[in-house]
Amino acid sequence: MQVTIEQSKLELVEGDITKQSVDAIVNAANTSLLGGGGVDGAIHRAGGPAILEECKRLGGCETGDAKITTGGNLPARHVIHTVGPVWHGGRSGEREKLASCYRRSLEVARENGLTSVAFPSISTGAYRYPLDEAAKVALRTVKEYLEAHTDIELVRFVLFGPESYRAYEQALEDLTAGRA
Ligand code: ADP
Repeated sequence: MQVTIEQSKLELVEGDITKQSVDAIVNAANTSLLGGGGVDGAIHRAGGPAILEECKRLGGCETGDAKITTGGNLPARHVIHTVGPVWHGGRSGEREKLASCYRRSLEVARENGLTSVAFPSISTGAYRYPLDEAAKVALRTVKEYLEAHTDIELVRFVLFGPESYRAYEQALEDLTAGRA
């Protein structure tokens, strides 16, 4: 599924983010930036040790913030590491922190002159953020960014499996129809 927002494309695909040929893929990392499971493990495995070497020099990353490294052996030239919130029931600022991940990642992309960015579904794995809620926050935040800035030409959500894809598809339909 694909929509146009101002001059930019926002698209949803089902697949593996490590295979994406874009300027940057975003990693759902943890605050240490020293590797983990899920999409983080997959990115370090596919990208090789150069990514971890750079991460070690970054001094970690706060929840909601984002930092950039090389893409190592990945088809993407860069990895933007962001740290999503752990879900604690929704009253601990989870929504704002998750929105901040998407905003900060796009700001870091822009600061580095990048124009195409692929995101995974941040926080919906080990961090247990409810998928439907996370999809709404993710898409709304990216839409607002693209409405306000023209530098990023493509944002692709790479959803791992049909359940994630369907949740994002429903959220994007609701958002574009003005239901969300
Ligand atoms: P978090 O700790 O932020 O919840 P996880 O990596 O556990 O991060 O999960 C985030 C999302 O990334 C989940 O929806 C998971 O299915 C997905 N995911 C795992 N591997 C990949 C991959 N190779 N490409 C894209 N998404 C992935």
